[in-house]
Amino acid sequence: MRILYVEDEKFLADAVKHNLEKAGFAVDLAEDGEIGLEQAVKPIYDCVVLDIMLPKFSGTDILKRMREKNVQTPVIMLSALCEVESKIEHLDRGADDYLAKPFKTAELVARIKALLRRPKGVDLTKIKYGDLVFDETQMTLNDEQMTIKESEILTVLIQNPEKLISKEHLLAKIWGEDSMGDDNYIETYVSRIRKMLKKLGSACQIKTVRGLGYKLTDK
Ligand code: CA
Repeated sequence: MRILYVEDEKFLADAVKHNLEKAGFAVDLAEDGEIGLEQAVKPIYDCVVLDIMLPKFSGTDILKRMREKNVQTPVIMLSALCEVESKIEHLDRGADDYLAKPFKTAELVARIKALLRRPKGVDLTKIKYGDLVFDETQMTLNDEQMTIKESEILTVLIQNPEKLISKEHLLAKIWGEDSMGDDNYIETYVSRIRKMLKKLGSACQIKTVRGLGYKLTDK
């Protein structure tokens, strides 16, 4: 699960990032509104945590632009402006939750987890596709144990079956945009997942779409 955290107070940003990482999230920091906006509209985040008072663009501006561009990533607003009006205003504008500063990171973690559980009432821990049952929490595929990276890649593929997933998207989502990762990483892990599918006798396959990426299919 990758989180974008837009926060200009460096000390707070580093501390919260550290705690979110300890809770198992991958975290990208953006330190002003301009970088925040550029990042927030990318489809690689599972949740965006937005401070309101920021240099260049405010968190409110970023939220507005995201929703105008139809980016539906869940957003949690953070602000010292804890008045009820401000909270209602942001929820009206499409924020999913609101947390007043100062806050405990444990509270933020709980809110993020609640948001990530929310979509469409689907049981997010187990995903079924074809003859596969993938348990994201346990990182098992039909009860076979996977590694972290294998399960992260499979999560993206199995949540978007029959859809082309580019290597760039996988790299950015799993290794982070400024990682030193390259296509070889992806190919290595995809080939391991393929071996596992074969071993399981599954009818599902990860097809290579030459030069573009991969597609999980059960045909
Ligand atoms: Ca701030």
